[in-house]
Formats: sequence, C-alpha cells, structure tokens
Amino acid sequence: MWPLLLLWDMGLSGIIIEVIVGLIGLDFLFRVWRRKVYYVKVHDFSKGHSWCSISDTDQAVHCSVCEHVLLGGGLRCDSCGVCADETCMHKADKRLKCKQVSVDSISMKHQWVKGNLSPESICRVCDEECGTERHLSDFRCCWCQWTVHEKCLPNLADLCNLGIYRNFIIPPNCITLRRSSRGRLRSQCLVASIKEPQWGPQWKPLIVIGNGKSGSNEACHLLSSARKVLNAVQAIDLSDQEPKIALQLCALLKETQCRLLIAGGDGTIAWVLNAVQNLHVKHLPETAVLPLGTGNDLSRALGWGPHVEGAVDFHGILKKIEASSSALLDRWLADIRPSRHLGIRFPGRSVRFNNYFSVGVDARVALNFHLTRQSPMYLFSHRLFNKLIYFTYGTKDVVEQSCEGLENQIELFIDNKPIELPCVQALVFLNVDSWGAGIKPWNMGQEGVFMPKCLYGDGIMEVIGVSSSFHIAQMQVGLSEPLRIDRGKHFRLRIFGKQPVQADGEPWEQGPSEIIIENCGQVPVLTVEPNCSPQ
Ligand SMILES: [Zn+2]
Ligand SMILES: [Zn+2]
Ligand SMILES: [Zn+2]
Ligand SMILES: [Zn+2]
Repeated sequence: MWPLLLLWDMGLSGIIIEVIVGLIGLDFLFRVWRRKVYYVKVHDFSKGHSWCSISDTDQAVHCSVCEHVLLGGGLRCDSCGVCADETCMHKADKRLKCKQVSVDSISMKHQWVKGNLSPESICRVCDEECGTERHLSDFRCCWCQWTVHEKCLPNLADLCNLGIYRNFIIPPNCITLRRSSRGRLRSQCLVASIKEPQWGPQWKPLIVIGNGKSGSNEACHLLSSARKVLNAVQAIDLSDQEPKIALQLCALLKETQCRLLIAGGDGTIAWVLNAVQNLHVKHLPETAVLPLGTGNDLSRALGWGPHVEGAVDFHGILKKIEASSSALLDRWLADIRPSRHLGIRFPGRSVRFNNYFSVGVDARVALNFHLTRQSPMYLFSHRLFNKLIYFTYGTKDVVEQSCEGLENQIELFIDNKPIELPCVQALVFLNVDSWGAGIKPWNMGQEGVFMPKCLYGDGIMEVIGVSSSFHIAQMQVGLSEPLRIDRGKHFRLRIFGKQPVQADGEPWEQGPSEIIIENCGQVPVLTVEPNCSPQ
C-alpha cells in the first residue's frame, strides 16, 4: 500500500509542477501579449477635422465652405487650418480633406488649404504679401507652411519638403496605420509602423506631451500648435494616453533618437521620465521642458525658465530646441523599507525622482496642500489661488512648528558615514540646483568661494538642512542660507516616528522605516544652459 501511495504522491507532485510551469509560461505569454498592446492611438483624420472654437483672432475669418465671414465664433481645424461655421461643419468634414497622419504615396506633395492666412504672409513665388484680400483667397500648405497667391500657384513645384521644421516632423508617407479589431481599442486608428526617412542624423522627430485637461489653457494651446506644425500623431494628450503608450513612437523608430517636449509641472515630467527609463530602445529620447506647473525646478535647472505666461509661441520653442544642447540627468531611487511593527514587516516601495527628496517641514507644507486639493470642497485650479493656499500652509506651520526636533527622530548615513545633524526641521537631498520654486540653495551666498557645484549629471547629491518654514521664506528672499550638510552618492535615512516626506513634489506621510537612496541611471535631456552637466 505505501509504495502505491508514494507513486501516486510523486505523480501528483509531478502534475503540480507541470501546472506551475504551465502557469509561469502563461504568465510570460500574457506579459508579452500585454507588451504588444501598447499602440499609439490617433484621431482618424479621414473621417473629419479636429475642430476647435476660434477665439484668439482679431482678423476676419472666412468659412472654407460657404466663404462667408464667421461672425461670433466659428470653428477651426487645429491640424489643417480649415475653418467653418456650425452649419458648414459637416460639409467641411466630407468635402475638404484634412492633414493626413499617414499617406500611401512615396513622394510628398503640398497640401493646400485656401484662405485665412496669418497676417504678413509672404508669397513663396513672387515675394509679395499674400492673403490680404477681403475674401477667401490664396493658399497655405499645411505641411511646409508655405503661403502662395492663387495666381502664382501654377508656378510652384508640386513636391513638399515639409519646410523649415522638417527635422522635427514625422512625414506622413513614413507612417502606416492599422485599425484595431478587438478589445478596448476596437475600430480605433493605431500607428502600426514608422519607416525612417533617410535625412541624416539631424532628423530627430519631436513628440509633444501635455495634459489637455489639466485646467491650464497653455497645454491645450501647445498641443494644437503641435498638430498644426508637426504630424498630428506627434501631439500626445496625457488625458487620453499614458506616457508609456505615447513613447511607443520612440520604440517604432529603431535607429532614430527622438526629442520630447513635456509640458507640465515637475510631477508630469517625473511621470514621463519614469516611462522613458522603462523604454527598450537603442537611443533614449532627449527631453525638453515647457514649464506649466507651480514649482518647475527641473525646468529652471535646465534653463527652460520658471513659467510660461500667456500664449505659447511654438515657433519660438522649436527654435530654442534647435539651439539647445544635450546633457544627461541623474535619476535616483529611494527604496523605502518599513520597520517591523508587532513582528510584521509591511511591504516596502520604491520611488524614482530627479529633482529632490526631502523629509520634514517642506514636505509637511506640500502634504497639507495636497490633502486640501483632494478635498471635495476644493474648487479652484487657478495658479494664484493655489499659491495663496500654499502660502497659508507655510505660515500656519511657522506657528505650529510641527517638525521641531527632526534631528532626534531621524538618522542619516552618507556613503556609509554617520552624520551628526544640527537642529533641523527638514533635510533636502538635491539633485538639481533648484528647489522651493526657484531657490538655488547649495551655492547661494557662496559666490566667489571655491566649492563643488550642485550638478544634475555628476552622480552626486547635495544634502541641506532647513531650520524652519520661516527659514525657507528667508531663503526665498535671499536673507538666509541653508545649512550645508554634506554631499555623496549613497544615502541611508532612518525614520523613527511618522514624518512627512516628498519626492519631486509628491508628498506622503512615511511611518518608521529605512530609506536607501541611490542613483538609478541617467536620461538624456536638452538644456539651454550649456556646461551645467559634465559629459
Ligand atoms: Zn459656411
Ligand atoms: Zn483638418
Ligand atoms: Zn508643403
Ligand atoms: Zn505671388
């Protein structure tokens, strides 16, 4: 009886092992299948235009169908520039071809759109001003943006070279689309493949990423401008597609390095850069920044400025990108391991960041602000209002002093060396030399003194201490310097009680734990301030 049982037992364990192996295999296939479903969605321009209401013009705009002047609004396709009143909109969708994301022909021809030229347009043939007549007249190519008189048009060659921004554009005759037949994306238009044009290494297509529903008009405006100048597939709205999907455009371009323009605050940029680091491509894309958030520390450090005000000048941005130089930005990983509680160790987590990591009073202010914004009572998304609330929390903290004695509740080791901490209410680990909306803490007040700089690509972070939220306010107006603690490559931070922490402006409350912070690679960035990063 026993040997029989043993045999049965062995058979059963064999089956169990086979089932486990089978499950692992299925899991692997599932992952491969999941990886394959990342297709970039595109608006199907063969079905009609991408209409936006016309609000920002003091020029008379004519309907492209009935040719009447559009009074009190009207619509414009932000991709091709065709205009229509509401009654002619459907006719325009049927009769007037939009700028196509993908075309079959091998050679590129101009695609002319009649009338509504921007002021001071010059005819490509006779060099005279065109589009000046008081009716729908003269033409603009929606790819190369050339403008031409109706009478001069026959004297122009058919072929379009995509104009001065050709090195940013993915030509439509290089893109193949396919229609999805199943799942969530059923009957959606997807990018199936991109063939690289042989235009040399200067061709680096630009992918513009922004959140069109972020509440700021600038992101929406930028995406519209990108659709007008580039191929519409290159304008990615984060309210519609996640970064990891958007970046599949880079994966489809096997030999080419792409450029990214990320519009948003530090949080959006960190989200996209995480996806960049996960890309399996030959060349990671280079990132430029259009600062639309409230902090914008990375944008400041890379020279893209503190904030964009007013209308987005897309042509100016393209020129700036063309003149920028490439550098490498360090990315850091904070590996958080919670301490045992009642004998149980809770699962840890890791957070990647590239600007700064902090514990203490500045994170407290950010956390209170974050919680207010999540409250159902919070109704405002205006930047000024946000600044006001932020200021209120800062001052509230001056009174409450909630992080007093932080030096006794944490322990810090830099490169395995224990650090004697002074009286602090916050510790900040800096990768870029910009923090707290524009303070350059590491080198402030040290002009003319020889000391290592806080560089974003040197594999080293600088640690500073802040004695109170009032101290932050003093630093903001240049009245005080931070407590410079040390610099290093490997950090071990032990937190004994509950403390507010933040990474790149994302705050949370952290219980007792050990946090190991180490470099986790680099990503290429575009900078308008050369010599900021050692190459
Ligand atoms: Zn009309
Ligand atoms: Zn259109
Ligand atoms: Zn053209
Ligand atoms: Zn002309």
